[in-house]
Amino acid sequence: KNRVDILGTEFDDFTEKQFHKYLDYDLDTKANKFIVTANPEIVLSARKDSKFLKIINNADYVIPDGIGIIKGAKSLGTPLHERITGFDTLKYLIEAADRKQLKVYLLGAKPEVIKATADKIEKDYPQVDLVGYHDGYFKDDAPIVDEIAEKKPNIILVALGYPKQEYFIEKYRQKADAIWIGVGGSFDVFSG
Ligand code: UDP
Repeated sequence: KNRVDILGTEFDDFTEKQFHKYLDYDLDTKANKFIVTANPEIVLSARKDSKFLKIINNADYVIPDGIGIIKGAKSLGTPLHERITGFDTLKYLIEAADRKQLKVYLLGAKPEVIKATADKIEKDYPQVDLVGYHDGYFKDDAPIVDEIAEKKPNIILVALGYPKQEYFIEKYRQKADAIWIGVGGSFDVFSG
């Protein structure tokens, strides 16, 4: 896979269609994967936080979330194929879970937002096996991580905002062979 360096963050360079093909394969083979959806704020923040940058660059997929990254890549002389947003990726993963009848776990956002997100998935994507969800305002990771390990989701959507969600995924991703993705404020949009 081709990676393009934008101020230290190494982006995957592929089309959204190709990315979706990889995701389908990962889901079919129950691979353990970590997706970072990086926007300009994340790139700038990673420049000041070398641990965060390392986590991003060790992820399996780093996708250009926003037109700012596409413009930046072009002006640096290393153009990327196209923008791939976290929100569209979240939707694709839920659709794929519906198609393939997979297990999904949701973590993050405010209690009413996560509840509305879960309700929407259950209503609009009836073949999704929603194995659990938890809001993003917790003190102790352990009960959540134990639940994830026990329920073995195929897809884990983490909406704690950056860099919290990426630190969380990096720390716990070995607890379940799933596609793990940090989706920022996407539940707020998805549920609304
Ligand atoms: N959030 C959370 N726990 C926290 C901090 C934030 O669950 O301790 C949630 C917040 O409710 C929102 C999301 O994380 O749903 C962050 O969204 P925001 O748009 O601020 O972050 P970004 O998309 O820029 O990462």
